[in-house]
Amino acid sequence: MDYTAKLDVALERLHEEGRYRTFIDIERKRGMFPNAVWNRPDGEEQPVSVWCGNDYLGMGQHPVVLEAMHEALDSAGAGSGGTRNISGTTVYHKELEAELADLHQKEAALVFTSAYIANDATLSTLPKLFPGLILISDELNHASMINGIRNGRCEKHIFRHNDIAHLREVLEGLDPAAPKVIAFESIYSMDGDFGLIEEILDLADEFGALSYIDEVHAVGMYGPRGGGVAERDGLMDRIDIINGTLAKAYGVMGGYIAASAKMVDAIRSYAPGFIFTTSLPPAVAAGAAASVRHLKTDTVLREQHQLQARILKTRLKGLGLPIIDHGTHIVPVHVGNPTKCKMISDRLLEDYGIYVQPINYPTVPRGTERLRFTPSPVHGPLEIDALVKALDSLWSHCALNRADLAG
Ligand SMILES: *Cc1c(COP(=O)(O)O)cnc(C)c1O
Repeated sequence: MDYTAKLDVALERLHEEGRYRTFIDIERKRGMFPNAVWNRPDGEEQPVSVWCGNDYLGMGQHPVVLEAMHEALDSAGAGSGGTRNISGTTVYHKELEAELADLHQKEAALVFTSAYIANDATLSTLPKLFPGLILISDELNHASMINGIRNGRCEKHIFRHNDIAHLREVLEGLDPAAPKVIAFESIYSMDGDFGLIEEILDLADEFGALSYIDEVHAVGMYGPRGGGVAERDGLMDRIDIINGTLAKAYGVMGGYIAASAKMVDAIRSYAPGFIFTTSLPPAVAAGAAASVRHLKTDTVLREQHQLQARILKTRLKGLGLPIIDHGTHIVPVHVGNPTKCKMISDRLLEDYGIYVQPINYPTVPRGTERLRFTPSPVHGPLEIDALVKALDSLWSHCALNRADLAG
């Protein structure tokens, strides 16, 4: 058997479909975010500003976070030394879970090594806890939720994105006596649109379903204490399981769920993705806890974040660039052609030192290829100005459409 030839075929397929991924090698410099250094393939170094990161608030370089991490590293050493069950539960993990339970006003929280794992492990475990479970999922849910639902190997149904009438139709077709979970997101990161949280919760109540929300693109950034869109809208207490990340707005790493004490106890006890893996390093847990704690009171950072997003959108709209604006902090600019999308991204990086990944199929549907900008409080007027000017000139150069799609 020629295994190498088979690998060649698999990789060639990606090249042919234009889906082969090349990573841009970025050296982040503490204190300089969003400015960084690109280690070019030719061995040269080039200064760049990063416009597609998920460190939405710059917490990855915040002194409060770094100090907590240094302190824990010096006091507890590098790794946790075990799974949560076998010697890997430290005071830092307990503190982090208490911070998160308090953030979402739930009885308990459970930390995983990432939000991907938290989604996958939790959703795939729910069918073990509720025999006969039916999982109902928004079609645009993140890959981690899709995988968790698939791995749960129970009956599943997909409703059209944010289509409440379709969700109702799906629910009406199901056995009223069967246990059900509706899984959805508060912010969908590719279009930057909000999930219809209240409408979905109303249906969950009506049909006796549990609700599962992914607030990964909202925690730290929305709500008076950073509890997410559900906190902002006063809906947290109606949601059964809230999923979040510690890696995006909180700037560190890790993921979690927050729920009732009993739900958390059951997931803790049944989910292989929680049980059979080493817990986060104490320094990571300490940094994440410090970040969560800090953002419960730092409303200035949250307001600056929203302001930067509004400024960028207003300026791009002023030039007639086709931005997709659903009122969140994510700023997608529609290109609608994979080759041009890649070309603009290449030119931005090489000629202007502006780093934004092109978002092409299969991450988004064909014909909706886009550049997705994530402004933050650390993107100053100089960076915004440079980006707007660069896009303006590239749009003219590539003869791209200036009509506003989103209106
Ligand atoms: C990034 C992302 C995740 C995964 O979060 P990690 O902590 O990076 O694993 C989960 N859900 C959504 C919607 C995401 O965008």
